[in-house]
Amino acid sequence: MSDVVEVESRHAPPLAECANCGHMLPQGLGEITCKVCDAVCRVSHQPTIDALMEETLPCPHCNTIVVAGSEERPLDISCAACSKLFRLTEKVNKVEIQCPGCESKLRIKPKPGTKELSCPACDAAFNVTF
Ligand SMILES: [Zn+2]
Ligand SMILES: [Zn+2]
Ligand SMILES: [Zn+2]
Repeated sequence: MSDVVEVESRHAPPLAECANCGHMLPQGLGEITCKVCDAVCRVSHQPTIDALMEETLPCPHCNTIVVAGSEERPLDISCAACSKLFRLTEKVNKVEIQCPGCESKLRIKPKPGTKELSCPACDAAFNVTF
C-alpha cells in the first residue's frame, strides 16, 4: 500500500471492439491486444485524449486547481502550490446488464470474454460475454 492520495479521472476512453473478432477490448488507448483472439488493435479517440490532457481537478491537499497536462493514466502529479504528490487514476467504465430472471439492472465492470454473474435481487446465475 502506498500513501499517495488517488483521485479517479473523470474521463475514460469509450469501450472499443476488436476489429478481428468483435469482442470487447481491454479498456485503454494505443496498441491494445485482444484478450480473445490476440489481435493487436490500435485504439485512438482524440476527444478522450484532449479531455485527459486538459483535465483539471482540485489538489486533494490544498484545493488549488491543477491541470493534468498528459493523457497518461495513472499519472503522478505534484501540485505546484503545495508541492505534494497525488495520483490521477484511470476511470473504469461500467456497463449495465439486465438480469434475465427479474429484469433488475446490474452495474458491472466489463472484462473481455465470458463472465458468470449472479443477480443480487433474485439469485439467478447467468453468463455474459463481451
Ligand atoms: Zn479479437
Ligand atoms: Zn496542492
Ligand atoms: Zn434477477
